[in-house]
Amino acid sequence: MRKPSRPQRLEPLPDIADDSLERIATEISQCQKCDLHKTRNQTVPGAGPHSVKLVFIGEAPGADEDASGIPFVGRAGQHLDKILAAAGFKREELFICNILKCRPPENRDPTLSEMFCCTPYLQRQLRLLKPSLIACLGNIAVKFVIGPDTPGITKIHGEWFNSIFGIQTIALYHPSFLLRSATREKGSPNWQMWQDIQTLKKRYDSL
Ligand code: SF4
Repeated sequence: MRKPSRPQRLEPLPDIADDSLERIATEISQCQKCDLHKTRNQTVPGAGPHSVKLVFIGEAPGADEDASGIPFVGRAGQHLDKILAAAGFKREELFICNILKCRPPENRDPTLSEMFCCTPYLQRQLRLLKPSLIACLGNIAVKFVIGPDTPGITKIHGEWFNSIFGIQTIALYHPSFLLRSATREKGSPNWQMWQDIQTLKKRYDSL
């Protein structure tokens, strides 16, 4: 397992009595901690059961997610669903979410301050979900969750890291990146993703 040269670890949050995924979602729906609340239509807290072995984390909701309040429902999400199903994952056994719970305007990249501002919600979700593994989708999420000195996703996809959440994390391509490449030939991003998702499935099945 490769370690980033400057590993980060978030400070644990203070205990919150009677915390729950529903309470977190309600707080997110009322949140005005960063300017993204001014332009969002719906908040997108995440979706899945209350206890999981594996959590998928992307960077931020897109237009379809902002309209529906559900993560990964647009074209990229549908592509991810196909990959997960082909590998034998059941989406109802996974929790899927983003670092940011509100859409950045025009799908611009999240800023570091927005991500740090929003991360306590994700920390609380992970504390309740207690996953053994995280799958981190795309370069921005990987650099935040694994560490700023992490090499680019094309170099480290499929590798395992210690994350800022203290949970074993695999770096994966974001499905929106995979949509830009139609080919599935050996060595292509879609082919690489297929190898990586099988690596993840093998680890998941061993839990
Ligand atoms: S992105 Fe996060 S911190 Fe910013 S307003 Fe939305 S829920 Fe609050």
